[in-house]
Amino acid sequence: MRCAVVHYHEIALKGKNRPFYVNTLLQNLKRATADLGIENLRKAMGRAILELPEGVPLKTLAERLSTTFGVANFSVGESAPLDLEAIKERVGRAVEEWREAGHLFETFRISTRRSFKQFPLQSPQINHEVGGYLKARTGAGVNLKHPDLTVYIEIVPKEAFFYFDKLPGPGGLPVGVSGRVVSLLSGGIDSPVASYRMLQRGCELIFVHFHGHPFVSKASAEKAEELADTLTRHQYHSLLYLIPFGPIQRQVVLSVESRLRVVLYRRLMVRIAEAMARRHEAAALVTGESLGQVASQSLQNISVIQGAAQLPILRPLVGMDKQEISDQAMRIGTYEISIQPDQDCCQLFIPPHPATRTTLEEVETAERALDLPALVQEGVEGAEQKTFDFPPGVVPAYRSKPPLSS
Ligand code: ATP
Ligand code: MG
Repeated sequence: MRCAVVHYHEIALKGKNRPFYVNTLLQNLKRATADLGIENLRKAMGRAILELPEGVPLKTLAERLSTTFGVANFSVGESAPLDLEAIKERVGRAVEEWREAGHLFETFRISTRRSFKQFPLQSPQINHEVGGYLKARTGAGVNLKHPDLTVYIEIVPKEAFFYFDKLPGPGGLPVGVSGRVVSLLSGGIDSPVASYRMLQRGCELIFVHFHGHPFVSKASAEKAEELADTLTRHQYHSLLYLIPFGPIQRQVVLSVESRLRVVLYRRLMVRIAEAMARRHEAAALVTGESLGQVASQSLQNISVIQGAAQLPILRPLVGMDKQEISDQAMRIGTYEISIQPDQDCCQLFIPPHPATRTTLEEVETAERALDLPALVQEGVEGAEQKTFDFPPGVVPAYRSKPPLSS
């Protein structure tokens, strides 16, 4: 039977939480491959096995496995009964088919991992036995250092797996094991990368975007939708809240001197995002801030912005520079969306000289002129909810904890 063997290193180490981590990964794998015709997915001593009937699109499968967090590496190969003669015969046939498909090789090696220690032969003996058989059957030679072909064999209870190629997974932790956070998603380059990094650490994200419509075009909201959709391939189901921020900003402009406005906007965004977080039982906020990148991201302003929040604001990009962030945005497929022109709500009513050093005291004084609870309520009530599913059209059935509806 053809199958995919999925290895998960880091999560295998997590002591008491291990069953929860592994089960979450299995659920996520099921969800990631829900439309590919895979009938059986199970655990086998520190790996997940996906049985692949004829017709499963292997390229798409590889794409899905390479974007499922928690996967260390994976391979597509075959299973065989746990019997040396059967293993030899199956490996021999598969190697011949491999060669017939145009993969030429003159040398090979066998690399066995015996996870099931009750199997009577040890790994070096299995290498020796299968290697000798393969040499005779194919005429190829053994080369342990630089073989043209490596045959990996894994021994688990009741069965063996073999394959020729290992592909890297994205690492990290399965989405869902670290809890839920609200991600402030602008249409820019940074916040999608920050979101990706939190997904990679096992967080489930709820997205919040503030837009300036109807004062500016809807472009930033459309980009946020496209970004949320792209990131959904890692968490399978997403909620995005589009929050009209223009009317709120207008009230800030009426009563707050211009140099303080950007920080005030941010503090309002944080409060509204936090209200959404409470609604969804999320434990933190996430932003794409990077220290010193722009005026609002000085150490001082970061601390004044944090002062508006009760929940921690996580900033996974804080120590990265723009080039590193852009490089990662390209790798994860968000860069091209982010660089589309838009009109960010923060360009609306933008002051010519935003202050880089605000103090909590002056900002709190300025905020006394505003009815903060009313502004937060206005943002929350104006929120428009969008949902995204991946693979598209698949009913969400595998979440460890369903997203709460609003
Ligand atoms: P980005 O590239 O993510 O837009 P940036 O370098 O442009 O970041 P800022 O505009 O100062 O930096 O925004 C800092 C962070 O505040 C963003 O990374 C994002 O998390 C949040 N943020 C800013 N604008 C918005 C918005 N319109 N909607 C939601 N979050 C926002
Ligand atoms: Mg921005």
